[in-house]
Amino acid sequence: MTARGNLFIVSAPSGAGKSSLISALLRDQPVDMQVSVSHTTRQPRPGEENGQHYHFVNQDEFKSLIADEAFFEWAEVFGNYYGTSRVTIEQTLAKGIDVFLDIDWQGAQQVKKLMPESIGVFILPPSKTELERRLTGRGQDSAEVIAGRMAQAVSEMSHYNEYDFVIVNDDFDKALADLLAIIRSQRLTSASQIHTQNGMIKDLLAG
Ligand code: 5GP
Repeated sequence: MTARGNLFIVSAPSGAGKSSLISALLRDQPVDMQVSVSHTTRQPRPGEENGQHYHFVNQDEFKSLIADEAFFEWAEVFGNYYGTSRVTIEQTLAKGIDVFLDIDWQGAQQVKKLMPESIGVFILPPSKTELERRLTGRGQDSAEVIAGRMAQAVSEMSHYNEYDFVIVNDDFDKALADLLAIIRSQRLTSASQIHTQNGMIKDLLAG
């Protein structure tokens, strides 16, 4: 029997470095996992590809997906809709592959309710000043959008204690190592090892 994959939820305020951490993790680290590609009604940013960063849909398409119960969770964030496909998550986990959900606190609350064994990780910036610097430095959004996101960041961060783990992204490499440690420890729980080391454990315990 294949063990189900682990479901990791990663949330952070915009500018905490969540996307860079997840990309670096998948690119450089020996972890076998997939990041779920969400549906969204927001416009693509420069460089974003449909189907790779998001499935970009219009409001009507999103609403019909809600009506079809196609979403595992969905939420309105910054005036746009975002949702995680139910079928994709279920199929990937059933294959024994770990899945990362890069979603906000509203989605995280829904996922925790539906799947209490999921592992929540919240990423905090080291300070408000640094967060503001990072949001400005990104250069993709207007001053108005940045000001709005700073206000949203405070509200997003107030949910940090609803997560199992908190990483402070001050030093990028350390934050990446912290994230990897969380994933590794999850794979070393006895519940996981019973599946992954099944043959070996049976052999060890054979009389
Ligand atoms: P952005 O527009 O900057 O890519 O994402 C804005 C926020 O929406 C981020 O906090 C991101 O984690 C969140 N988000 C992205 N996809 C989903 C999703 O499928 N569900 C929920 N609830 N939030 C999402």
